[in-house]
Amino acid sequence: MEMKKKLYNDLATYLFNVFGKKVYKITIDAGLTCPNRLNGRGCLYCNDRGSGTGLMSKGYDIETQIKLGIDGLKRKYKKIGGYIAYFQSYTNTFAPIEVLERNWSVIRKFDDIVGLSIGTRPDCLNKDILALMNTFTDKYKVFLELGLQTINEHYLKWINRGHGVKEFIDAIKMSKQYDFHIVAHVIIGFMGETCDDVINLAKFLSSLDVHGVKIHLLYVAKHSPLEEEYYKGNFIPVTREKYVELVCAFLEHLKESIVIHRLTGDAHKGELIAPEWSADKAGVLTDITNTLIRKNSYQGRLWI
Ligand code: SF4
Repeated sequence: MEMKKKLYNDLATYLFNVFGKKVYKITIDAGLTCPNRLNGRGCLYCNDRGSGTGLMSKGYDIETQIKLGIDGLKRKYKKIGGYIAYFQSYTNTFAPIEVLERNWSVIRKFDDIVGLSIGTRPDCLNKDILALMNTFTDKYKVFLELGLQTINEHYLKWINRGHGVKEFIDAIKMSKQYDFHIVAHVIIGFMGETCDDVINLAKFLSSLDVHGVKIHLLYVAKHSPLEEEYYKGNFIPVTREKYVELVCAFLEHLKESIVIHRLTGDAHKGELIAPEWSADKAGVLTDITNTLIRKNSYQGRLWI
């Protein structure tokens, strides 16, 4: 019997294959900041919580956040095989090494945590930080989530990323020496973005052999500089149809082995300004699936 071809290399299947059980992520706010915010307003799309939960500023330390995360997941799901501690907010390598060690070591207090995921910028890594991350591979699967967003220098400048493509390439080369699962964060939905733009991005990531990709839709979040641009009429969000077309083109040109960690962005509750359609995350995912099926296509079909 012919095996049914998978449309894309989804995260849930990958995690199940790695851990042999269902694991869930707990997002953590370690109360750090980000060099891009200290030097200015930060990335155009970033809100005042550093794209995270803001829990540290509400008085919840890392241990408490993990406990709350575990309790919340237990209420939601019956069968849980373990957790991945995801340091998400701001730039999680932007602090003295002792602080990073203290932050990340909190996970050792929890027997059910099986993975450590660190979200950061490509220009905030060095050998010492990577060596520290490596000490966690003794017991944990370690994920490194690196923000690239786009390889279009014009867009990089417009969103005020504060780094270029070169820094991303250097960070990948440095990190590849370790046994980390490296995830590139990218944004789709820039004004005027074409299929060629996302195809070039997919080819670039494929040639660098990153292990995973997280796609964010460029949406307008409350209290982000982009909100101002949006109300001034300087930013028009991508339509749902165009977004689906761009994501499908990206997937078709992305190496089959790369794990898809996310296919669209989802704003925190009450945080979304535009586009409204992005709140229908399940519907957008269905549109992407249906488009690939209609085209008789799948991830990596046009990669080489
Ligand atoms: S690098 Fe991250 S935390 Fe810093 S401004 Fe950009 S999106 Fe926000």
